[in-house]
Amino acid sequence: MKQLLFVILLSATMSIQALAQNSGIFPKGELAPNVHHTGDVWLNHLSEADESFEYNITIATFAAGAKLNWHMHPKGQQLIITEGIGYYQERGEDVRIVQQGDVVKCEPGVEHWHAATPETGVTYLAITGNEPTEWFEEVTEEEFNSFDLPVSKSESTEQEIINVSEQKWQWMADKNVEALADLFHEKAEFVHMGGSWGTERELDIIGSGGIWYKQADIHEVSVNIIDNTAILLNRITLVAEVGGNEVTNPFEVTEVYVKQNGDWKLGSLSFTRLMSRGDD
Ligand code: MN
Repeated sequence: MKQLLFVILLSATMSIQALAQNSGIFPKGELAPNVHHTGDVWLNHLSEADESFEYNITIATFAAGAKLNWHMHPKGQQLIITEGIGYYQERGEDVRIVQQGDVVKCEPGVEHWHAATPETGVTYLAITGNEPTEWFEEVTEEEFNSFDLPVSKSESTEQEIINVSEQKWQWMADKNVEALADLFHEKAEFVHMGGSWGTERELDIIGSGGIWYKQADIHEVSVNIIDNTAILLNRITLVAEVGGNEVTNPFEVTEVYVKQNGDWKLGSLSFTRLMSRGDD
């Protein structure tokens, strides 16, 4: 999905991907008349389809409470959420929360709607195949106000990070360098008792068994999310083999994750040795 998206963006303009991370640089455009939506929606048509490009690129800014009617794009649509939190729902499916960094692929012919939430605005880049959208009925206010998802989304984001972290310990125990290479950001920093280094060296050490993270017993975990960054604190007892010697240490581990193109990447892993054993 990322690859296809990248190809599309590349062929549109080399700079769109960077711009998508800071939609604030685009003017909001015109306040759109309430023909197929309720509430305030601003549209800025950044790039129109032409003989070479069969899709339009628009940035849409929704005030809290603004929502589109049900509709369908004969040639499909991708939504790249650049700011805020909103709703997306396909006919017959549950409503989804979408937020900054998410990419939604809406297949050709699939009936759907997208919106802000009642409490939060949302901004996205819409890449839409160049054939007129078909519009249907309104999403009722009653239905729109019946979803209670922003909170569950933030809870599920925390759970998602906890799951990623647990999975990471397992991959480290399994010396699964391939999976870890996908999780570790290329610019990640690893801070150990014996020094700190980057992703390439960490992967080499794990792969060669220089440090074998055999088992991490997790006693406590907490997650703070700040925009696109998640900071996880792990209190663990780690059984490791270092240069062939098995050692057991209590650590406070700080893990920093950054959301990039919809995936969480590990940006930092830092071990602080605790004075106590950590399992009391
Ligand atoms: Mn749409």
